[in-house]
Amino acid sequence: MGGTFDPVHHGHLVAASEVAARFGLDEVVFVPTGTPSFKQDQDVTPAEHRYLMTVIATASNPRFTVSRVDIDRGGVTFTVDTLRDLKAARPDAELFFITGADAVAQILTWKDAQELFSMAQFVAVTRPGHTLSVEGLPVDRVHVMEIPALAISSTDVRARERAGQPVWYLVPDGVVQYIAKHQLYRGLS
Ligand code: ATP
Repeated sequence: MGGTFDPVHHGHLVAASEVAARFGLDEVVFVPTGTPSFKQDQDVTPAEHRYLMTVIATASNPRFTVSRVDIDRGGVTFTVDTLRDLKAARPDAELFFITGADAVAQILTWKDAQELFSMAQFVAVTRPGHTLSVEGLPVDRVHVMEIPALAISSTDVRARERAGQPVWYLVPDGVVQYIAKHQLYRGLS
C-alpha cells in the first residue's frame, strides 16, 4: 500500500486490514512516498517523520511492515518503481497494490500505467466522498472492495492539528503522541 502517510490514519489501517483478510495476504507492506508526484506543489512533511509514524502505527500488527524503498530511492515517487523494487526483493511473491477510490481513479495517468497491471493486481477500496470507478482498467487485474466507511483524511488531520482540534481516535495513539512531540503540522498552511 503506497501513500504519503502525512500522517498515517485509521482509514489506511482499516483498508489494509480488510484487504489482507479478503485476499488472504501474508504481509501488507506500507510504502511511504519520497516526494509524491501529485503533491509536488504542497508542503509534505519530511520522509523520516512520515516513515516513523507509519512504523509506530503498524507495529502491533504482525502482518504489517513498512518499506523504505521509495524514501531511499529519493526524488519523485512513481508506483512503477515501487513495484519494481518490491518485486526484486520478493521475486516469488504475488503482489497486490491497495488503493482508495480517489487514487484508483488516477491510475491511467500514472507513469507506465499498463506495466503496472503486469506487475501487480490492484485492489480498489471504497472511500467516503469518492465514487469508486474502475472504468477503463483491466477487469482481470483490478478488484473492487467495499470496506467500513471512515471519513478520515490526512488533510483533515493536519487541518485539525493546525486549528488545535483533537485528532485522538482518527490516528493511532502513538501517532498522536509523535505529532505532539515533534510539533508537526502546527505552522503549515
Ligand atoms: P491527503 O489527505 O494528504 O491527500 P490521504 O488521507 O488521501 O492524504 P494518502 O497517504 O494520500 O492519504 O493515501 C494513501 C492511500 O490510502 C490512497 O490509495 C488513498 O486512496 C487511501 N486512503 C486514504 N484514506 C482512506 C480512507 N479513509 N478510506 C479508504 N482509503 C483511504
